Amino acid sequence: MSTQLFDLTGRTALVTGSSRGLGRAIAEGLAGAGARIILNGVNADRLETAAAEMRGQGHQVLTSVFDVTDESAVTAAFQVLDRDGVEVDILVNNAGIQFRRPMLELETADWQRVIDTNLTSAFVVGREAAKRMAARGYGKVINIGSLTSELARATVAPYTVAKGGIKMLTKAMAAEWGALGIQSNAIGPGYMVTDMNEALLANPEFDSWVKGRVPMRRWGRPEELQGVAIFLASRASDYVSGQIIFADGGMISVL
Ligand code: NDP
Repeated sequence: MSTQLFDLTGRTALVTGSSRGLGRAIAEGLAGAGARIILNGVNADRLETAAAEMRGQGHQVLTSVFDVTDESAVTAAFQVLDRDGVEVDILVNNAGIQFRRPMLELETADWQRVIDTNLTSAFVVGREAAKRMAARGYGKVINIGSLTSELARATVAPYTVAKGGIKMLTKAMAAEWGALGIQSNAIGPGYMVTDMNEALLANPEFDSWVKGRVPMRRWGRPEELQGVAIFLASRASDYVSGQIIFADGGMISVL
C-alpha cells in the first residue's frame, strides 16, 4: 500500500531543461516511478540522445524542443501536445541558467535574461500547463528553487531575485490553483554536481568551502533529488502545497 502512494503509472510529466543535469535526473526518477516523460531543452541533438538513453532503460519518453523564454514557442509546444492527445499531469519547471557578475558591472540585458529564464519561464510554462490541468481538476507543479530562494550571495543578483521569486510564485500558484485541484511546491537544491557548477567544481578554494560548510561535507548528486521529486509528483503529497523542500545536505540551516 505505502509504495502505491509513490506510483506514477499512467501519469505524464513534462520536465523543462531535462537534457542533462538536475532535470535529467528528476526525469529519470519520475520515469522510474512509472511516469511517461516529456523531455525538454533547446539543444535538439542533446535531447534526442537523452531520450534514446532513457528509452533504452525501458522508459516511455517523448521530447519537446522549445526555449522556455520564448512564449510563442511554449504555447506552440502545448498545442502540439494537445493535438497529439498528450496530457501533462506533472510539470517540473527546472530549466535555468546561472550568470556571475557583480551588480556594478551587470548589463540590464543580462539581468533580464536570467530573470526570463529562471523565473518568467516558470510562470509562462506553468500557466499553459495549469490551464489544461484545471480542465481535468488535477495537476502537480514542481518549481526548482535554490538556496538563493532564501538568501542572497554576491555576484548572482538576478539569479537570487529569480529564485526568491520562484519561492513566492510557488506560493501564488498554490493560492490560486489549489481550488482547481492543482498543487504547487518547490525543491531547493544545494550545491550539486552539474555542468552549471563546472567552474566552481574546478576551483579548489570553492570546492573546499562547500565541503567545509555543507553539514554533510560534500556536494549533492543530481539523483539525490529524485526522492523529493517523486514525493511531490505523487499521491504521497496530495495535501502538500505552497512548500519549498530543500535537498541541500543541511546547508540552508547553517548559511
Ligand atoms: P545545467 O546547466 O546542468 O542544465 C540546464 C538545463 O536547462 C539543460 O537541459 C538546458 O538545455 C536547459 N535549458 C537552459 N536554458 C533553457 C531554455 N531557455 N529553454 C529550455 N531549456 C533550457 O543546470 P542544472 O541541472 O545545474 O540546473 C537545473 C536547475 O536547477 C536550474 O533551475 C538551476 O538554477 C537549479 N539549481 C541548480 C543547482 C546546482 O547546484 N546545480 C542548485 C540549485 C538550483 P540544453 O541542454 O538544451 O542547453
